Amino acid sequence: MVKIFVDPGHGGSDPGATGTGLSEKDVTLKIATRIRDILEDEYENATVKMSRTRDQTVSLEERTDMANAWGADFYLAVHINSGGGTGYEDYIHDLLSNNSRTAEIQRTIHKEVIKLNDLIDRGIKKANYHVLRESNMDAMLSENGFIDNTHDLAKMKDPDWINNVARGHVNGLAKAFNLHKVTKATKTTTKTASERLASSTPSYKKESTDSKQKTLYLPASADSWRIYPLNKDPIKKNALPDQLHPSKFGGFQYEILGETWPNVYIIQTKQLGKVQIYAGPETGAEIK
Ligand SMILES: [Zn+2]
Repeated sequence: MVKIFVDPGHGGSDPGATGTGLSEKDVTLKIATRIRDILEDEYENATVKMSRTRDQTVSLEERTDMANAWGADFYLAVHINSGGGTGYEDYIHDLLSNNSRTAEIQRTIHKEVIKLNDLIDRGIKKANYHVLRESNMDAMLSENGFIDNTHDLAKMKDPDWINNVARGHVNGLAKAFNLHKVTKATKTTTKTASERLASSTPSYKKESTDSKQKTLYLPASADSWRIYPLNKDPIKKNALPDQLHPSKFGGFQYEILGETWPNVYIIQTKQLGKVQIYAGPETGAEIK
């Protein structure tokens, strides 16, 4: 197992950089959480620990102590830039040579992030930051756009962009650490996500137990449902960046494949495959 420590910058009493209507600490948490979820859901030889999973104050010492005590193979710090610029850059510790393994990992991740993040490439850099210096393992810090730049800020407010940035980091990690995608063979020998869900949540109803086929409608006006991976409890921190935008399409209609919790249904989506969706009455969703 490759142990990846993911550190969303700032949090709690430290908002980090701020832009209009947005704080760095919230954007870094979204990107980092998505990186964790993709690694855990799609790769079989990666395990992830995060420095924080909610809006929480954690000191720099606590962050590197956590990664060192865990014995992480890689330390990935996720940040947002500010101070009058635009684009993406990343850092390794300034005493490392360009021939170091860390520099090689940095180049690999950098290349993959730039493919997907739709930001200007400010290059690979070095600095004497605490998390790069005090971590015992290879470490990199990424600065994902400038929160005080209108163009970059607009991207940070788009869940698709958050997802793409996370995906870019994961693609780089996968190459640098030879991470394997969960294979079909593995899937058939282990429980499927819905089977895991069924065994952990007694309220799960299989399609065949319902006498009537039900359908979930998300009219164009509905806008506050939340979606979750099948193998996670439908609680707020597990929510996926929402990619279902029914207003763009005049509405969505999904066959309900099961109900996992009250008002939480399993649906098959084009964008995300099978997911759980919280679609209580206040979301504007309708069940027929
Ligand atoms: Zn920062």
